[in-house]
Amino acid sequence: MIPVQGCQGQTIAVLGLGRSGLSAARALREGGAKPICWDDMPAARDRAEAEGFACRDLGKPGAFDGVDALIVSPGIPHLYPEPNRVVAAALVAGVPVDNDIGLFFRSVATRDWDRFDTAPRVVAVTGSNGKSTTSALIHHLLESAGHPAQLAGNIGRGVLDLDPPGDGDVIVLELSSYQTDLARALTPDIAVFTNLSPDHLDRHAGMGGYFAAKRRLFAEGGPDRAVVGVDEAEGRYLANQLSEGPTDDRVIRVSSGQKLSGPGWQVFARKGFLSEYRKGKQIASIDLRPITGLPGAHNHQNACAAYAVARALGLAPRVIEAGLASYPGLPHRSQVIAQAGGVTYVNDSKATNVDSAVRALGAFGAIRWICGGLEKEGGLSALHGQTGAVRKAYVIGREAAGFAMQLDVEAEICTDMDLAVARAVADAEPGDTVLLAPAAASFDQYDNFEQRGTAFAEAVARALEG
Ligand code: ADP
Repeated sequence: MIPVQGCQGQTIAVLGLGRSGLSAARALREGGAKPICWDDMPAARDRAEAEGFACRDLGKPGAFDGVDALIVSPGIPHLYPEPNRVVAAALVAGVPVDNDIGLFFRSVATRDWDRFDTAPRVVAVTGSNGKSTTSALIHHLLESAGHPAQLAGNIGRGVLDLDPPGDGDVIVLELSSYQTDLARALTPDIAVFTNLSPDHLDRHAGMGGYFAAKRRLFAEGGPDRAVVGVDEAEGRYLANQLSEGPTDDRVIRVSSGQKLSGPGWQVFARKGFLSEYRKGKQIASIDLRPITGLPGAHNHQNACAAYAVARALGLAPRVIEAGLASYPGLPHRSQVIAQAGGVTYVNDSKATNVDSAVRALGAFGAIRWICGGLEKEGGLSALHGQTGAVRKAYVIGREAAGFAMQLDVEAEICTDMDLAVARAVADAEPGDTVLLAPAAASFDQYDNFEQRGTAFAEAVARALEG
């Protein structure tokens, strides 16, 4: 645990008692603060009370009297579409609103660091897609090279649950736009922006607010090094704003598909090869095509970003190459779950938006595509023209018929995962890939994308047994 510093004797309200809220309450208590907790769900309050935390309804008049700050969980709207009633009360009362990420950056450095030969460093990764993969890959590259590293944030552990870092440790954080939007301190040593495409627009009042939330990671603390994906206008704008000029190598530009040139520092992937250029000279070239844990151009983008971070941390290209080759992949992200009769089964349940599904569709050939679910804002038109490799779609979800009508490929309305898998398995021929890449959220039928991916894997196992 990282005890929260600078809050001794203060009363700090904690709203939302899920994983990050509870861990914030514990870290505050450890730092000498008095946490006051609330969650609208009685079961969550029971869990907090069982740990000895006081709970009181923070929406009641006067609830913020004597409260020094409010810590809000990422799932709770702090501004758009409208602030949660408790957050609204804190804003009226003038009480500073923060989150666990802000507390972490305020608290991670301690006096002990004076004794270290190498100060611990924090790498923070944000972007619309590829955050988890890039963060997990950076962590893997470091560990496989023998460097102590810890992974937290939106992936794995809550940030305040991390062990206090030791000499030379690297902490890798995956940060969502909700987290970067609210944190009052954001001071990573290396910040990464993977890419940008529409997502969560209701929580940010549109694309501008969404980009602004991610941009805070770079604008607030001024990282020593920024790794920026420049395949969209926003990434190019961000890289431009952060650098003094073309030779400034504090910004490492990353692309999947474009050959980047210039006197600065660039890492890009084209036709399956990663290249690093610095000051106009090629430093390294790595063949990414045989790496099974990183299929497709989207994963090559993630590989480039992780490679750039590892280089910025001083790892040699050959060491990074070995780490990339041994990366096992993450569950529910372009994950090969079975191979039978010449057919490959891939679980990409995490493709919850159109952009990530398009990337998955580009990574495989002869696809039997299981898609559908709760449609996101923006519709499905961005899928048009991207389905060239799809032999047929098998549509799941409560609104399967409406979803199927919007596709530009032959589609069968299955509604149910078991039926979709059974139909795809029956139709599949050697060389085909049965791919779950829903292009939609899962909440109409499942609790989350993990549960949906597990349902897919189980249905595949049953269909292959039968
Ligand atoms: P995040 O944590 O940002 O949601 P993940 O690594 O979990 O990212 O991947 C989410 C989804 O996006 C997966 O379906 C994956 O196949 C796809 N994806 C991964 N990397 C990228 C990328 N660089 N660009 C676009 N889509 C990607």
